[in-house]
Amino acid sequence: MALERTLSIIKPDAVAKNVIGQITSRFEAAGLKVVAAKLVRLSRAEAEQFYDVHRARPFFKDLVDFMVSGPVMIQVLEGEGAIAKNRDLMGATDPKKAAAGTIRADFADSIDANAVHGSDGPETAAAEVAFFFAGLNVYTR
Ligand code: GDP
Ligand code: MG
Repeated sequence: MALERTLSIIKPDAVAKNVIGQITSRFEAAGLKVVAAKLVRLSRAEAEQFYDVHRARPFFKDLVDFMVSGPVMIQVLEGEGAIAKNRDLMGATDPKKAAAGTIRADFADSIDANAVHGSDGPETAAAEVAFFFAGLNVYTR
């Protein structure tokens, strides 16, 4: 397995529930390192651009409204197979379908307020890390 980086976002619902630490502990326990992090409130333009791939979907406006509704914790996670590992830790998009013990099963309330984002492949991971953390090399640890 290759050393990878992936983008994680702890979404406004999970930040509001005060579980940034509990979620990040799961990343760390699985061997993922936080190599960059920032707690920010996204602008509507940033949220729309980040989720551009979903622009034509019926839930796009709800998704953007939700993502700008409060602060988010954006992190770059690094580790062996980090992209798939993070997706496994997250669980299915719909928390009702997420496996027991996953972040979404334990912390998410609905398909729109589903606690976390994670890059879904090597190309999206590279693009999403660059979107939020240009010039990341300086943060390597
Ligand atoms: P993810 O990669 O598991 O986050 O899922 P997707 O990339 O398919 O969708 C991106 C995000 O859009 C999801 O995490 C949800 O927040 C939201 N989303 C996806 N499908 C739906 C839906 O059917 N209804 C609503 N309201 N939101 C959705
Ligand atoms: Mg996705």
